[in-house]
Parts: sequence; structure tokens; C-alpha cells
Amino acid sequence: MTTSHTTAPHKTADLQAPVLPPLPAAGSQVGRYHVEEVHDLPEMQGTLVLLRHENGARHAHVQREDDNLAFGVTFPTVPQDSSGVAHILEHNVLMGSQKYPVADPFFTMIPRSLSTFMNAMTAADWTTYPFSTRNRADFFNLLSVYLDATFFPLLRRESFLQDGWRLEFETPDDPTSPLKLGGVVYNEMKGAMATPGSVLYRAFGKALYPDLTYANNSGGTPADIPSLSYEGMKAFHAAHYHPSNAYFYSYGNVALEEVLDVIEREVMSRFSAQELDVSVPDQPAFSAPRREEVAYAGSDLERGSQVVVGWKLGYSADPRENLRWSVLSDVLLGNSAAPLTQPLIDSGLGTALADVGGYRDSYREGAFAAGLKGLPLEQTDAVEALVLDTLRQIAEEGLDQELIESSLHGFELGSREVSNAGFPYGLGVMFGLVGPWMNGGHPANALRLEPELERLRADLKAGPVFEPMLRELLDSPHRVTLTLTPDPELAAKTEADEAEQVAQMGAALDDAGRERILADSAALAQWQAQEPDSTVLPSLGLDDVTRQLPRPDYAEERTGAALLGRIPQPTGGLTYLDVQTRLPELSAAQVEALGLYAGALTQSGAGERDYLALARRTEAVTGGIGASIGVGHAPDSLEHVRLSLTLSGKALERNGAALTELMRDLLAEPRFTEARLRQLLDQRYAALKNSVVSAGNAYAERLAAAQVSRAGALQETMSGLTSLERLKGLTGKGSDLSGLLGTFAQITQALPHGEALLALTATPHGVDLDVSGLGQVFAAGGHTAQPGAALLDRQPQARVTDSPVSFNAVAWETVPFSHPDSPALLVLTRLLRSEYLLGEIREKGGAYGAGASLDSRAGVLTMSSYRDPQLDRTFEVFAGVPAFLSSGRIKSSHLTEAVLGASKTLDPLTSPDTVGRMRFFGDHAGFTVEVKEAYLARLLTVTLDDVNRVAATYLTPERAAYATVTGKAPTQDSGFDWAVQEI
Ligand SMILES: [Zn+2]
Repeated sequence: MTTSHTTAPHKTADLQAPVLPPLPAAGSQVGRYHVEEVHDLPEMQGTLVLLRHENGARHAHVQREDDNLAFGVTFPTVPQDSSGVAHILEHNVLMGSQKYPVADPFFTMIPRSLSTFMNAMTAADWTTYPFSTRNRADFFNLLSVYLDATFFPLLRRESFLQDGWRLEFETPDDPTSPLKLGGVVYNEMKGAMATPGSVLYRAFGKALYPDLTYANNSGGTPADIPSLSYEGMKAFHAAHYHPSNAYFYSYGNVALEEVLDVIEREVMSRFSAQELDVSVPDQPAFSAPRREEVAYAGSDLERGSQVVVGWKLGYSADPRENLRWSVLSDVLLGNSAAPLTQPLIDSGLGTALADVGGYRDSYREGAFAAGLKGLPLEQTDAVEALVLDTLRQIAEEGLDQELIESSLHGFELGSREVSNAGFPYGLGVMFGLVGPWMNGGHPANALRLEPELERLRADLKAGPVFEPMLRELLDSPHRVTLTLTPDPELAAKTEADEAEQVAQMGAALDDAGRERILADSAALAQWQAQEPDSTVLPSLGLDDVTRQLPRPDYAEERTGAALLGRIPQPTGGLTYLDVQTRLPELSAAQVEALGLYAGALTQSGAGERDYLALARRTEAVTGGIGASIGVGHAPDSLEHVRLSLTLSGKALERNGAALTELMRDLLAEPRFTEARLRQLLDQRYAALKNSVVSAGNAYAERLAAAQVSRAGALQETMSGLTSLERLKGLTGKGSDLSGLLGTFAQITQALPHGEALLALTATPHGVDLDVSGLGQVFAAGGHTAQPGAALLDRQPQARVTDSPVSFNAVAWETVPFSHPDSPALLVLTRLLRSEYLLGEIREKGGAYGAGASLDSRAGVLTMSSYRDPQLDRTFEVFAGVPAFLSSGRIKSSHLTEAVLGASKTLDPLTSPDTVGRMRFFGDHAGFTVEVKEAYLARLLTVTLDDVNRVAATYLTPERAAYATVTGKAPTQDSGFDWAVQEI
């Protein structure tokens, strides 16, 4: 059977000559900009233009046939202390500017825009403000807002108090009540410094570059944050946010002259050149290797330590040095069979590679590091010796040429891949070029990998390249062995130190000081209570929403018992294969084991190969193969859920057959062994345990949803905190894995009896690949079954872990996707987030984040807080939704914004690798383009009455389920009967 899906109109996959605006020539002048260089970028079919303004501003423009336009402005920022000045400034910059004097133009713009990315980020030595969007008007709206925010921010004292730090009385207008410290960044960093990975990362920069800006915590160390004054923040802005210190970037199918015109008019015309010194000097070399130790707040003394051995290298902006270390690092550590990874893991000292490792080019002088985590205390000597001995042995015996070849193949594949999956490609390009650019390298280096790869290949033919680099590394005295240890007392000590700090600050206050605090609190409260007048900000209208979704072509046929979709796309010579197996009947034990099965599948052996051989083969011929478990839904029923296992792989077109063969082996003949499974379970446990404090909101939401939704209960079983508890029992010495291995074998046997869908995405040439080997895995008459899923008891659930902040959540089950109320519920979540939760929980409550979302397919609506210093208060905020909705605070402009924002979830950013398979799998799940367009059409007609009605119908207290992930067991004061478990 062959069906062709060629419904017009659709985005064509044929490669017509793109119509791009003309570019200026090198040496010419565009206004006050001098065009310094123009480079072809053949690998990405683009052109790079480098310009310099009279006042010193730099601009890089990458022109490509891509309608997802991108922009970023980046400033080198080199803080001299750990007060978090760069980070606090980053927050304040986004809180009102001369032209847009509203309290938070950034958050106000999010719902008024069709942006595909908006953010701001503070790294160790730079701060960047990037966005992307597929709408041209939106691009220029956002450009104006970003330029005004960064160059002409108001930097109000109130915004400093709110988002930086503040001292206030617990009852803000009562000077006899106790003092406390607050502020968004203050709380954000308390949360950030609670994860072992971020503590290790900061300590690593400090240990290796003790004399440079990297020794400081650019995000802010909570105890040091109060040393920053409001005036200090303003001075930092004046010194760093100047065109002479700015690196502008624009990308996509947009006219460069138009972009430059706007920048000239809005910014450049108001500045002259300024001398600045933001350069990072060389780190003076060590005369002998060092050891450093750092503690984090944690209680896992058996497996909570990490040891990392790190070296300083040469300049990361040097393209030759950069590529060589990138390749060498990949060869040594790139996969589980790699010659440094394998001995580290097989030593059994720890469970996984340390959170800092490999080649790191984010420092001006790069770094290389390797180590282990999941260690008991006092393993420093053993890990250091193991790393050094292994490297010494590799340097003596030489690296396997095949490994080097595999790695070079991976770099070739990476340089050709154009994908928006996970992150917009146009901004990925910016992050690739801006690092070397700011450090004095050429921005084109990162975009033109192939000439440098050719040079490396030639050097490798002439003689050993990597072994001498390793010998030089081993001889270098600029080495640090860094040990990270858990300290069960640290949280209490930090809290006592904070109390002491507050007490000292209080003791130092005179009457005038106390008056100042009262006045600050009053000013802040007044400012927060202001009705925001956002009419000055530009906005899109509902007319800008695309009503027609992409309809990429595919042709369908049977291969064996599987249904195959052949999807031609301009993939740049890559082939993508997805095999989705909808699972037949499984026992409860099998369902519980599915997440572990998928996690272990591609990391074990298959067919003739053990896990090492499989890892080597995967690296040599593919760009990676991954497995995941999905919970599928029906558009018209919440009762119908199904489970699927999806295996996804990609390869260069010439390796399509090899990819197919590997995926066949993985599905039909996986080889799990007890020794390997033990390693993988230990790694998974460590990774999940760490993720609790960085993604606690997702865990809390899942725990709440599991009380009301079948899909939610399945997710909780497979990937929630329940699965973490189960995993804990399977790890550690002497645990019995025979039962799990038996369950894995049953799953392998059951798989071919499911229903299989294959999606093959490739160029019009590569799409003819023979994948019949995959089709033959599946038995005729395959079918999908409904998995059993017992709901969790409906009782507020609290999970207590090492965390100074809380993650609070509430969930409701609502309606299926095609129910007429679903679009109104989606709009409701947008309104709750932007008009209610952010103000109440982030601005007033001091949490880092708050949100509401609807999983429209699962029908689950959740609200949650992120890194939240409050618990009871936040649940009161959640309970206040009806009062908020009846307060009349929602204006029709808010509704328009909410609808605009909601439309984005129906038309997500795609790229050639994802757009076709989304349609193919959607068509076969009932979520056809027509069903989604009907949803979109209904969404565009949602009224405020609809929103109020669905809130009153579905978001009732009787239907709600609650959960929190927190540092201390909650009290029962709030009237909640918490079920508390330590994790
Ligand atoms: Zn922040």
C-alpha cells in the first residue's frame, strides 16, 4: 500500500534558489559601519559579514535561507567579586527602559510576541541577550525592546530591591519585627548553589584560574550578594554596556541594512567611542600541581563525592588548538567505550564521570578535566592516580586510529547538521562564534570547520598529533585535583551564617537606617502594586498567527509488519530514522521497568557486539542513537492511553545501511549483562538524584498529576520520584538484578508484538534507503494495549530532600484535546502565569519562577513554583485563582496576548529533521494537521467568558491534587494533611 500525502499548501522540500537580500561588499561603508570582511559559509549555505562601527561596536551578520530570524547583543563582563553584579544587572536591565518604562518589559513582551526564543544569560565573563522569531514584524519589535533595555535601562532602585537583594522587616511596615534578606537573584543563587554540579563548576574555575575573573561567582554567592550596592550596579552598567564593548549578532533571511539602520537610530546615534578594558589577562602558571577541596550541602556520604583532575591549556580562541582539543577530548571521553571513560567507570571507584569534564573552551585559556562522581569520601588519591596513569598509558601506547577516525566523522556530521531541535540553530551559531570572537579569535573559525579538519587530517598522516599533546599535558605543573564533598551540616551552617549576617546588619542600623528600610519596603510595595501600562510596548495581533500548519510531504508503505513513512527533506546530507513501537500488554513490573529499559538499551550490547563494541560502532557510523518511552493519548478521550518505545538515530547518508542494521540489532537482540546494568543503574540514580534539586518543579507536578490522571500516574511510575525510590533499591553493592534482567528479557520478547511505525527523513536521494531489516523485526498482527495505571492516593504529597528552597505544585485533570474547552484552558494557563502567578510568587514571594501549563494531550493542567522560599503562602496563592479571576483584572489586551502565546504551542519551531516525522506520527495518532488546525481556529475565538467558565468548571478545590519537593517537612498549619517522605 502506498499513499501519498501531498495536500497543498505546504512548505516545499525542493531546493529552489533562495531569494536573499543583497549584501554589501568587503571594504564598503554602510552608514557609519565599515564592512571589514565577507565570508562564504559553504557548510551551512550561508554568508558571514563582519562590520565595525565608528564607535567601535562590532557586528556579525549570518545570512541564510532560514525564516527563524535571530539577534543577540553580548557584552564582555568581568566582575571583580562574587556579589553577583553582572547577574543582578542582567535582571535589572530587563525591568524597564527609557522608551519602554514598564516594570518588566521582558516578561510583558513574551506573550505579545511569537518569539521562538527569548532570554538573557550571565556567564563567567560575558552577558548576552538573545532572541529569535519567525515573524518579521516581531523581529523588529523585539529588536527595539532589547536595544532599549540593554543600552538605556532605567535601573530603578525598586527593581534592584526586588530582583537583586533587600533587607526588610518580616512584617514590612513593622520595624519591631525581625529582619530578613530577600530578592529574586538572592534566592535564585541559594537554589543554584544547592546542586553539586554548580558548586563543582564554580570551584573548578576558581581552582584553575585563581587570579582571574573566573575565580568569582558571576551569578553571585548568597553571602556576598549584600555587599553589592545599588550604585555599584549602575556603575557596572555604565562601564560595560557601551557600544564600544558590544558584540552584535543578526541571523537569517533579513536585510542587514535594515537591522543596522535600527541599531544606528536607536543606539549608535546616542554614543561616542569609549575606552574600556575588559580584557582577561593570562593566568600566571603554577609551579607545581595543586589540590583543592570544596563542600556542598548534602548528606550522601557514601556516594556524594566527586574528584576531578583539571589542567589549564592554551588559548581557546586559537582554531587549531581548539579543534585538536575538541577531538582529543571526544576520543578520550566521548562514549562509554572511550579509552579514558572505560577504565574510570570500570574501576568501580565511582558511578559516573564527574559533572565537570572534557575540553572546556569557555575560558580564555581552555581547560581539560576528567574525574568521577558517586564516590565515597577520601578517594582523591585513587582517582587522581587513575586519571594520570591512564593518560600516561594512552600517551605511551598511542591512540587507536579507528577511534580518531570515528571522532572526526562525528565532527563532520555535526558541522553539517542544521536542526532547531532543542535550541534554535541561528542562536547556536551565535554561541559558537561569540566565544572565540570576544577572546580575540576570528568569528568565522567556529563556522568553517572543514578546512581546519582537513589540516588536522593531513597532520595526522604526517605523524602522531595527540600523543605529544598528552605528554605535554602530563608534564604541565598547572594542574588541580579538586575534591567535592557533601557536608550534612552545611545547610544548617549556611542558615546560621545568614542569620548572623542579618543580625550584624541589623545591629549596624541606626534610626535613619531603619527608616530607609521602611521607606524601601513601602516604595517596593507601591511599585509592585502599580497597574502596569504596557501600551507603550509593541505587540503583534491575532492576525499575525499562522492559521495553516506545515504539511510536509511523505509517502507511506508497509515494510514487513511495520508502517513506513518516507519523508524527503533538505537535511544537509543526514539521514534520520525513528522507530516507534506502540507496546502490547505488559505486566505492572514490566511497565515499571520501561524507563530503565530504554535508558539501558543503547548503552548495552546488541547482536554480535558487547557494549564496548556497540559504543565504538555507534560512534563510528552514526551521530548517535537514543531510546525513549512515550505516553500516547487519543484526541477525544483521556481514558485511552498507550505506551510506546521510540528508537531514534541519525547518520550521514552514506552510513544509512549501517544505522539501520544497528537499530535492528538493538530492537531484536539487545544484550543486557548484570555488570553493565549495574553501572548504568548507578549512573542513572546519580543523575536523577541531582536533577531533583534542579528540576524539582517537574517532579512536584508529576507527583500531583499522578493523583488525578492515568497518564500522570504512568509518568510518575516510569520517571517520577516513585521511580527514583525504586531505583535506589536496585543500586549499591549486592543488590539483586536478576529479577530486573528477567523483566528486560520479557520486554524484548513483547516488543515485536506491538504496532510499529517507522519514519525515515532524508534528502530526496537518501530517502530511498532500504529499511526492510527493521520491518522484519515485527510480527504480523501487532497490536497496542492499554496499560494499567493505578492513581496515587489523593493526599497532598511532600518529598523532603537536600534543598534550601521548595518546588510547589497543584494539578487538575481537565478534558481531552478535541474537547471544545481545551483551548480556553490553554489560554487560562497563559493568563494565570503572566497576570497572576509571576507577580504573586516571583515578585512578591521571592521565588525564581512560577508558571501554569496545560498538557493539552494528557488533559492535565498544573501550576507550580520554582526555587521558592515559600511553601504555605504559595499554596494560598494557588487557591486564590477564583478570587483573581473575579477581580476583573484581566483586560481584553491580556486575552489577546494569551491567545497569541498559546498559538505557539500548536505551531512549534521545527526544522527539516523534525517537521516530517511530527506530521507522520501525528497523523497516525489522530493528531492530524486538520485536528490541530481546528484547535487553533477555536483558540482564536476564545472569550473571557469561556476562560472564566472553564476555570469555574475544572479548577475546583475538590478536583485538585497537591505536591511539594522541599527541604523541610511542611507543617500542617495550612490545613493540608501532608503525606511526608524523605528522599
Ligand atoms: Zn537569574
